[in-house]
Amino acid sequence: MHNVIQLLPDSIANQIAAGEVVQRPASVVKELLENSVDAGAKSVQLVVRDAGRTLVQVIDDGAGMTETDARMSFERHATSKIRSSDDLFRIKTMGFRGEALASIAAVAQVEMRTRRAAEELGTLVRIEGSEIKAQEQISCLPGTNLLVKNLFFNVPARRNFLKSNSVEMRHILDEFQRVALAHPEVAFSLFQDDREVFNLPSGKLSRRIVDMFGKGYRDQMAYCEEQTPYVTVRGYIGKPESAKKTRNEQYFFVNNRFIKHNYLHHAVLGAYEGTLPDNYHPFYVLFIDIDPSHIDINIHPTKTEIKFDDERSVYAIMMAAVRKAMGVYNLSPSLDFDS
Ligand code: ADP
Ligand code: MG
Repeated sequence: MHNVIQLLPDSIANQIAAGEVVQRPASVVKELLENSVDAGAKSVQLVVRDAGRTLVQVIDDGAGMTETDARMSFERHATSKIRSSDDLFRIKTMGFRGEALASIAAVAQVEMRTRRAAEELGTLVRIEGSEIKAQEQISCLPGTNLLVKNLFFNVPARRNFLKSNSVEMRHILDEFQRVALAHPEVAFSLFQDDREVFNLPSGKLSRRIVDMFGKGYRDQMAYCEEQTPYVTVRGYIGKPESAKKTRNEQYFFVNNRFIKHNYLHHAVLGAYEGTLPDNYHPFYVLFIDIDPSHIDINIHPTKTEIKFDDERSVYAIMMAAVRKAMGVYNLSPSLDFDS
């Protein structure tokens, strides 16, 4: 008898899992911002240094964690967001896999300070390559302050695979903008190498769009809304004359989660038909609200694709919504601005 199979130690299992969740600094940004939103934060601050290579920090004023939860949060498959498999079909939070913190802690040096408002003291946890280095009580503000330092310090291959700072920063900005657009009710700020790049107060979606993309958008967009029992579409679309040669200001959110969807993109373009010059792309920020039982949400953590059980209906409703918005704005160009 010669048995050879062994269970991997947690640190190795976590490092392997991290390969899926943490591809680059922007993945850390996405996971931490989503955790802050899930924790009910009203205000979230993101700090990055060296395009996130040496530091990604997220400070929130959300629910915070108890001492035990603070430690548990770094365990794999440890989550407060689902309890049963039924919960998978009614997910309202951004996270639910319980993998992000464990994965990040496997490939970085992490420091977390967290406190629940009801408690007098908070907890500091220091963890590095899945190994807890320190845990102590500290005094700190309510909420959670997470520092992720020296990403991939123990995975040189991953570190070398990272692109230039400007490319990595672009990915970080993409993630930041997606989360900030999806949650205008939360204030967000971004500091890049000690410089404030964004300071977005909480408010309505229209205000968030203008704060993020510029005042010029104020009278360049039209409100869009269409409701059916199956799905609701709402958001803003850019007027045809504001179309640009780049197509990176196009956003779909399904139940507040950013997605890419070529088929729906096609529906939007269909509504613009004949109004855009060749190679010009319209701006849009469109929210699709749908009962979670009609979508397959259990997709890969980093993937942004999604499946609807009746895709053709969503297509038709999307096209109708955008058409209607264009028609409305044609009739009354001075559409009221609701911020
Ligand atoms: P998930 O978000 O899928 O549950 P994570 O690994 O991202 O998994 O987080 C694990 C748990 O840690 C969360 O379920 C939550 O209870 C807690 N947590 C993480 N970040 C925060 C935060 N910023 N504020 C409060 N609790 C948090
Ligand atoms: Mg999470």
